[in-house]
Amino acid sequence: MNKRLFCGVLALSICLTLGLAACGNETGNNENGGHVHTADSFGSDEDIHWKVCTDCGEKFIEEDHKYNGSNTCTECGYTIPETAGLEYELNEETDTYSVEGIGTAGDVETLYIPAYHDGKRVTEIGYGAFFECTFTAVKIPSTVERIEGAAFTECNALTEVKIPDSVTFSKAFGGNALLKSVTFGKNSKLETLGKGSFGYCPELTSVNLPDGVRLIEDDTFEESKIYTDKSFWTDGILYVGNHMIATDETVSGKVTVREGTKTIAEAAFQDSGDVTEVVLPESLVALHDYIHDMTKREAKSVVIPKGVEIIGSNAFSSFYGVDHISVESGNAFYNDGNGANCLIETATNKLVLGSNDTQLTAAMGIKEFGYFAFRGCNFESFTIPDGVTKLEVATFAGCANLKSVEIPASVTELGYEMFSECDKLQNVVFKGSVNDWKALTEKSEGWDDGAQEIAFTITCNDGQAPRTER
Ligand SMILES: [Zn+2]
Ligand SMILES: [Zn+2]
Repeated sequence: MNKRLFCGVLALSICLTLGLAACGNETGNNENGGHVHTADSFGSDEDIHWKVCTDCGEKFIEEDHKYNGSNTCTECGYTIPETAGLEYELNEETDTYSVEGIGTAGDVETLYIPAYHDGKRVTEIGYGAFFECTFTAVKIPSTVERIEGAAFTECNALTEVKIPDSVTFSKAFGGNALLKSVTFGKNSKLETLGKGSFGYCPELTSVNLPDGVRLIEDDTFEESKIYTDKSFWTDGILYVGNHMIATDETVSGKVTVREGTKTIAEAAFQDSGDVTEVVLPESLVALHDYIHDMTKREAKSVVIPKGVEIIGSNAFSSFYGVDHISVESGNAFYNDGNGANCLIETATNKLVLGSNDTQLTAAMGIKEFGYFAFRGCNFESFTIPDGVTKLEVATFAGCANLKSVEIPASVTELGYEMFSECDKLQNVVFKGSVNDWKALTEKSEGWDDGAQEIAFTITCNDGQAPRTER
């Protein structure tokens, strides 16, 4: 390495180290391109504290309060004016409290939930805790991690809420008459928005959903103003922050999801027209059960971008007879069997989705077939490779040309309705004994539901097995 460059790199890394150290020290100083931010004290409000540099005027700290056991912020000294009389429940496992109700607090103007109660952290707001309460504001401390369903439902005087960065799960604000805005911080840890989280809020127009959210359950914004007012939609698609929430009936054919999108919510395509292909953006991380209305959709192609980490188990169950499947190389969570035209979850070796032309071998080590893996595919015969142990629901549903299927003896569980609508099915070849087949079907309830009228035979190593004994 060039010596001068090396010195430069070294100096830079020393700077970075100093900068980091300074950032976390008690004076709150912070390196900024040769200039060290400085401030005498914190500014604060009831949610956060911050520092503004006395030299350059820049904000260099802005974060949630950090509370001690006396509900006082250890950084800025702010103390929560705790609302007295609330109900709590101790979670024995975590030794933390859940706040469960308004108790004797009555008609408070602002609800102040403490960070600590009886010396223990308050980490949860329980199901329906403040249902139909009348406060006009609520302050949630930075110890809370879960806000359970309906916790603030029909709190009809509430107009805005700030959710602390510590919250990872929220399912709380549906059905509020005046709620206009919900604010998440820059460092929000929110992972999951529960079903109906912000539904039925007729005034709700502002929610800055953090990029880090990985699961948005269905009906999250249903009938809220964000949903009902078409000015929030783009070309028939509703995006909130960098997340795709819903489609309307004008969306059909080949649909391109906007670049920048991080997740596609559950049931996002529920109300769409006849979609045949969804082009997923490079930015995508999580793809939930976005089409799960079970409408048949003639799908041509599925291409999974490199950054996708999460695919819901029903993500493709509406797709019928997919022609082409590929996963961009470099994806750490999914692969396409090296050009085998299928979608495989790498860690579990589960086949999530197959196509009209999937090429499987035992050497690939596939362990399971996922929901509706080959729905509507057009092949006439199929050999399940040796080593597969489990077939989930409806593996070959709607494979209208399928005449023959070979099942290895390694299979220990058949999925529900695995041959439904396979009207041409003639022969199932099982590579174990008749007794093995009987044991297998006994464990696999409903495996031939939807196929009982189809006259296929079951050929085992030692003869023909009877159809299911009921
Ligand atoms: Zn400064
Ligand atoms: Zn503070």
